[in-house]
Amino acid sequence: MNAVVLVVDKYSLYIHIHTLTAGVKYPVDYNRKGEIYYKKEFFSILADLANIDKNTLVFFYKRRIDEPPDERGFIGIWKAGEIFNKIQGKEIIVYEDLQEDIEWNSKYILSRCQNCGNPNEVMEDDKIKCPKCKRELGWHILPLRFPIEEQQIFKHYLDDNTAYIDITDNGRLSTLIFRKIYGAGRERSINPILPEEAAKLKRLLERVEYEGKNQKILIENANIKPFKPDLTKIKPIYEYLDFSKRYNLKIGRKLKKDQPLYHPDGRVLYETILEFWMVQKLKQNPKELMNLFQIPENENVEWFANQVLFGIGGEKSDIIVLTKNENSIRCRALVIELKRDIIDKKACEQIKKYAYWIAQLVSSQVCTTNPFTITPIIIGYRMSRDIEVSQSYNFKIPYSQPLEVKVEPVCIYTYKVEDNMIYLSKV
Ligand SMILES: [Zn+2]
Repeated sequence: MNAVVLVVDKYSLYIHIHTLTAGVKYPVDYNRKGEIYYKKEFFSILADLANIDKNTLVFFYKRRIDEPPDERGFIGIWKAGEIFNKIQGKEIIVYEDLQEDIEWNSKYILSRCQNCGNPNEVMEDDKIKCPKCKRELGWHILPLRFPIEEQQIFKHYLDDNTAYIDITDNGRLSTLIFRKIYGAGRERSINPILPEEAAKLKRLLERVEYEGKNQKILIENANIKPFKPDLTKIKPIYEYLDFSKRYNLKIGRKLKKDQPLYHPDGRVLYETILEFWMVQKLKQNPKELMNLFQIPENENVEWFANQVLFGIGGEKSDIIVLTKNENSIRCRALVIELKRDIIDKKACEQIKKYAYWIAQLVSSQVCTTNPFTITPIIIGYRMSRDIEVSQSYNFKIPYSQPLEVKVEPVCIYTYKVEDNMIYLSKV
């Protein structure tokens, strides 16, 4: 089960749930001539969004602007939908729409600044502003969108204390609490969560509803008008992962026109392109990657996500993949680090240090095999010479039922863009 939490606020929540459209910000540079230049943050958002499929559960988290604690928090549950594109004859889930604003009851989700055309926004003192012309917008600019459907709606807000502090419900929202602790700016607009975290959110939503706790969201069922984008105006996000194409890109501090996504030597321009590619690959053909990583045939991908936070200090793993065995028991975590350039000694040591915390993160709330396996993988362009061959080792997590964890030797792969594809090879 794949689930995400989408961070929204009072400006956008009601439009999302009444037009059944989710939306995410568009971090790009916009110059005086009205041209868009893409940068590393843009590809990072696309990597987040590439994880969405038509069965992804969607929770919203309404963050605070000026409302009291009982009028904010989590609500749910929706799921991602899809649009059939008659023109291309295929389904689209996440798309870019830079032309149409979404309107509901005289409230808006914009595609660009209505004054200058900039598709980018900033929040200053809880007001939404255009960073280009400095106007106050009043509404969010959210050009990256996907359709949603109602799955099972709980109307009472799940407040932060019940979600994070209350220990009468089992488990924790581990990957979310680390974003919370770190404070403003840490939350990203779309957060993939573990299946057990999604199950906990659902349990707690049921509970606040049953107890009649907190305020209710007002869904006007008769007034739900799904937004239907004009298919001639939208673009599926995968069009930004085409190594045969050229894009306007921000490289370092310079805006450059018509650039490929990689250097002549086969290195990608930003690490986030590699991340976007990995997430897409895991979504579309997980078996191919699992074979390449030499994962036993009886294991299947249960869940994966990019940029998974697991530490108070902001420690995160570029990609985590969980697999389950033929009995549907979680048995392995692949912890993948991505390096645009050189894989050095430090990267190898770091990934080993993470093993203990990641093992706890993914084994404390669900039944796993005992022993449980951690497979550390580093993917980079080339390897520095001082890297030593690592050994496999074991450690124990002292749960009431102690868990034996086996950490496999670090596996190193190099990548290269060639013939408009990314190739991985084992070192
Ligand atoms: Zn503007």
